[in-house]
Amino acid sequence: MVDLKGQYNDIKDIVNPSIQEVIDNTAFINGPKVHEFQKNLEEYLGVKHVIPCANGTDALQIAMMGLGLKPGDEVITADFTFAATVEVIALLQLTPVLVDVNQDDFNINIEAIKKAITPKTRAIVPVHLFGQCANMEAIMEIAEAHDLFVIEDNAQAIGASYTYENGTKIKAGAIGHVASTSFFPSKNLGCYGDGGAIFTNNDDLAHTIRGIVNHGMYERYHHDVVGVNSRLDSIQAAVLNAKLPRLDDYNRARQIAAKKYDKAFEGQDKVITPKVLNGDADASDCHVFHQYTLRIKDADRDALAKHLNEKGIPCGVYYPIPLHRQKAYLDKRYHEEDFVVTNQLIKEVISLPMHTVLDDEQIEYITSTIIKFING
Ligand SMILES: *Cc1c(COP(=O)(O)O)cnc(C)c1O
Repeated sequence: MVDLKGQYNDIKDIVNPSIQEVIDNTAFINGPKVHEFQKNLEEYLGVKHVIPCANGTDALQIAMMGLGLKPGDEVITADFTFAATVEVIALLQLTPVLVDVNQDDFNINIEAIKKAITPKTRAIVPVHLFGQCANMEAIMEIAEAHDLFVIEDNAQAIGASYTYENGTKIKAGAIGHVASTSFFPSKNLGCYGDGGAIFTNNDDLAHTIRGIVNHGMYERYHHDVVGVNSRLDSIQAAVLNAKLPRLDDYNRARQIAAKKYDKAFEGQDKVITPKVLNGDADASDCHVFHQYTLRIKDADRDALAKHLNEKGIPCGVYYPIPLHRQKAYLDKRYHEEDFVVTNQLIKEVISLPMHTVLDDEQIEYITSTIIKFING
C-alpha cells in the first residue's frame, strides 16, 4: 500500500546524518531537533503553536483534556473513520455521539451534526478523511452558534488546505480551536516510529497543553493538573525535519498518481472515483490523497479485494465496520436509519496503493486488473 523504502532511498543522504547528529549529541528527548521541527511545522501550517507528542491518538486525547471537557459532555464525531477518535472520547468518560457521513467525500455530514446537538454537546471532531477537509466553514458556523469547540483530527490530511467560499485558503489543522495529527510511518508526513502533534492558535490553550504533555507540570516538580507523558523523541523529529520540506512535493506526487487512476477508470460505471469537493481540484493541496478510495457499484467488492491480493496487488478496506456497530461503542441512542451512508460505504469502498513513488507501470497493472475483474 505504501512504499516507505523507495521514499527512504531518495532522502537517505539527508535523513541519515540528521539521525546521526541526534545520536552524537545524545539529546534523545526534547533535544534541539524537536524544537526545530516544532518551529518549522508552525511556519509551514501558519499556526501559532505546535506541541509535539508521542502519537496521533495521544494528540486527540490531550487536545480534549486541554479544552477541559468533563465526563458526560457529548462530543460529536464521524461514524466512518478510524477508531482512535471515538476511543479517546470514551476513555475520558465523555459521551461519543457518532453521526453519518457524506457519500461523495466520506466526511462528516453537516445536517447529521445539527440533528445530534443537545444541551450536553460540547465539541465536534471532524476527521479530514483520506486527505480531504471536512466542510469546515459550516462546522465552524455551527460551533459558534452553539458555543462548541472544534477539534480537527488531521491525521490524514497534513498539508491539505481548506478553501472558504470567499476564496481564502487555510491549512487543515489551523482552522478549529485545536487540532491533532499523527506522524505514523504511513501517514503523509510519517516518521520512523510513532509521533504526533497538537496545533492551536490559542496562547492559553497552548500553555495548558504544554503542561499536560509533561505530567501536568508548569514548573519543575509542581503538578498543577493531571497530565500524561507524551513526547516526540529527537530521532523522530530529525526524520520529520528532513521530510517536512518535501511534504508538498510528496502530496503533489500523490495527486498525480490519483489523476492517473482517475483517467484509467474513466467510463467505468461500476467504479466511482474519489471526488475533490472543496477548492480547485487541480491545486495539489485540496486533496492530499492519504488514501485513494474507490466505491464499487454493482460488483462484489470483497471478491475484488481477494482477487487483487491474489494478483499481488495490495489493497485495503477502510473501514469495514461502522463505529456505531463496534461492541465497545454500542449506544441505545443509535438507530440504523441514521447511518444510511456509512452502512452503504462499508460495502463499497476499496483503497488502492497510494504513495510517493508509484510508477505508470504499477498503475496500469492495478487499474487493468480491476477493470478486467469487474467486467468479467
Ligand atoms: C492514524 C490516525 C489516528 C491515530 O494516530 P496514531 O499516531 O496511530 O495514534 C487518529 N485518527 C485518524 C483519522 C488516523 O488516521
